[in-house]
Amino acid sequence: MEFDSFFAEALDGLREAGNYRVFADLERHAGQFPRATRFREDGTSHDVTVWCSNDYLGMGQHPDVVRAMKEAIDRCGAGAGGTRNISGTNHSHVALEQELADLHGKESALIFTSGYVSNWAALGTLAAKIPGCIVYSDALNHASMIEGIRHSRAERRVWKHNSPEDLDRLMSADDPSRPKLVAFESVYSMDGDIAPIAEICDVAAKHGALTYLDEVHAVGLYGPRGGGIAEREGLMHRLDVIEGTLGKAFGVMGGYITGSRQLCDFVRSFASGFIFTTALPPALAAGATAAIRHLKASPVERQQHQERVARVRRLLDRRGIPHMDNPSHIVPVMVGNAAKCKWISDILLETYGIYVQPINYPTVPKGTERLRITPTPFHSDADIDHLVGALNDLWSHCALARAVA
Ligand code: PMP
Repeated sequence: MEFDSFFAEALDGLREAGNYRVFADLERHAGQFPRATRFREDGTSHDVTVWCSNDYLGMGQHPDVVRAMKEAIDRCGAGAGGTRNISGTNHSHVALEQELADLHGKESALIFTSGYVSNWAALGTLAAKIPGCIVYSDALNHASMIEGIRHSRAERRVWKHNSPEDLDRLMSADDPSRPKLVAFESVYSMDGDIAPIAEICDVAAKHGALTYLDEVHAVGLYGPRGGGIAEREGLMHRLDVIEGTLGKAFGVMGGYITGSRQLCDFVRSFASGFIFTTALPPALAAGATAAIRHLKASPVERQQHQERVARVRRLLDRRGIPHMDNPSHIVPVMVGNAAKCKWISDILLETYGIYVQPINYPTVPKGTERLRITPTPFHSDADIDHLVGALNDLWSHCALARAVA
């Protein structure tokens, strides 16, 4: 086989379908969030304002976090030194796990190298190792959960997105004696809608199922101490597993689960994605701990964040720019066509210095292509005016193009 021609053909297929991903080459600047320098392929560069970062609160640039990481590097060096089991457990990992267990009101926590790995390894292990387990997965669950469940080879039922009724229907049709696990998210990343957690927990409890909640897009952002939607709604005790990331609102990198001491010990002892990989650098753990501690004590960033989100939505409404109405911080501006979405994103970047990555199929269904805008506490009024003004220019241009076509 001529491997390179095979690869090139497959990539051409992606290009033809409009699904080939092109990365923006950015350099973030400490203390200047959400400003960045973008490098073009020809070697030139320009300043941009980032409007699609998942560093939702700018904690990746926060002085407490940066200081904690620098101090940890000075104290401990660069790497962890091994897997968690073989010399890699550093004191900052232990402290971070205690902090996370406390954040979610659980006995224990376990950290992984990313949120993706935490879902893949924890769900995969639970589903594979609990004999006869059936997994009930929300239709819009993230790829990391889907892959973990697939990998487990457990029986899987997919329930209609955010529908406790459909979940109940599916669970009622199964053998009541089989162990069951219900996996879902709180804030869904592309539509920004929020799960009816209490109702889902009611259904799970009726059928004696374990509950597994991905709060990746909610931790740090919601709840009095940043514990997520379950904390905000007083429901943390109803979830057997709360999973999260250290890479979004906490600004660093890594993922985790929290749960009972026995459950975390079980995953720690059986999950190959936890056991056979080098532990996170201690400095990352120290940075994440600093971010979590800061956000536990300070509601300021969360309040400013919500206020900025509301302002963006208000101004978009005023200009008649179509965006999905949802109760979260994610503002999907709907374009509905892959080529147009890319065209708008390219002009925003080159002409207006605004960086918003287009979101196309297969990340979202065809016909719902969008710009996923994520305001942060650090976007000023002038930034928001500039963004909405630019979108308005482009929307007027599209309307004009349609009118003369
Ligand atoms: N769960 C959800 C819902 C996600 O959107 C993501 C990443 N976008 C992950 C898990 C994976 O988290 P991480 O980026 O930390 O790997």
